Amino acid sequence: MAKMNVLDENYEKLQQEIQSLNEKWRGEIGNLQIEDITGNGSPILPQAELSIDFSQYQRFIEELLQMLGQNNEGIIHTADKIKALLTLDVLQAWFKEAIVVNHFYFKNYADENNLPDWLPIFVAEQAARPFLQEATALLESQLRGMNHANGCPSCGEPARFALLNKKGKKELTCPRCLHAWEEKKISCAHCGSEDELVILKVEGDESAEIHACHKCKGYTKVIDSRKMFKKESPTLLDVKSIHLDYIAQEKGFGVSDDSGIGTH
Ligand SMILES: [Zn+2]
Ligand SMILES: [Zn+2]
Repeated sequence: MAKMNVLDENYEKLQQEIQSLNEKWRGEIGNLQIEDITGNGSPILPQAELSIDFSQYQRFIEELLQMLGQNNEGIIHTADKIKALLTLDVLQAWFKEAIVVNHFYFKNYADENNLPDWLPIFVAEQAARPFLQEATALLESQLRGMNHANGCPSCGEPARFALLNKKGKKELTCPRCLHAWEEKKISCAHCGSEDELVILKVEGDESAEIHACHKCKGYTKVIDSRKMFKKESPTLLDVKSIHLDYIAQEKGFGVSDDSGIGTH
C-alpha cells in the first residue's frame, strides 16, 4: 500500500480531519425529510426539496472554516469575512449551487466578495455533503435500478471512483453522497462501452487500476478493497488515490466537467 498515496502528509491529515467533521455532522442531522421532488429522472437531488436546517448548515460551514484556520493561519481573516456574509439568502443559494457544483456561481461570488476562488465552493460543498448523504440514504429504494448514464443518480457526481467489493464485483461509489451501485466489471461507467475500455495498471500498486474509455474519453479509478488492511471511507480513498486522476488525465482521459479534482 505504500504507493497508494503520493500526497504530502499535511494534505492527508487535513482530509482526515474533514472526514471526521463530516462524520460528526452526519450524526447531528436529526430528521431530514424530502419534501418534494420537482422533476423526473436522474440525478434526483438537484430536483429535491429537502427540509434543511440552514442554521445547522451555517454551523457546519463555520466549523470547517475554523478547522481550516487552525491548519493555515493565513486564512483566519478570510474565514471571518465569510462568516459575516452568511445570511439566510446566501446559505440557501450556496446549498442549492453546491449540490450541482456550480463553479461559475461560486467563482462569481468569490470575485464579488474578494475571496480566494477555491474557498466558498469548497466550504459550501463540503458542508452540504452530510445532508446529501442523509437524503441519499432516504432515496435508496428509488435509486436502485436508476439510469447511471449521467453519473451518480443521486447527486450527479461523475462516476469516476469504484471499489472491487468482497464478491469481486465493481461497485461504483460516489465520494460525495456515498450512493453505490454495481456495474459490469469490463464496461465504461460513463458510456457503457465494453469494446473500447482499457485497463491501466499502476506500477507497484496491485490494489489500484484505471478503467479508461477510448470511446468517450472518460475514466474510473478502481480500487480493490479486498487488498486493504482497514476499511476506509470512499471519500478518503478517492482523495488518497488522486495520483490515479493525474495519471489518467496525463494520458488524455478526463471527465466531462472539472468537478473531480479540486473540490475534494
Ligand atoms: Zn452521489
Ligand atoms: Zn466510455
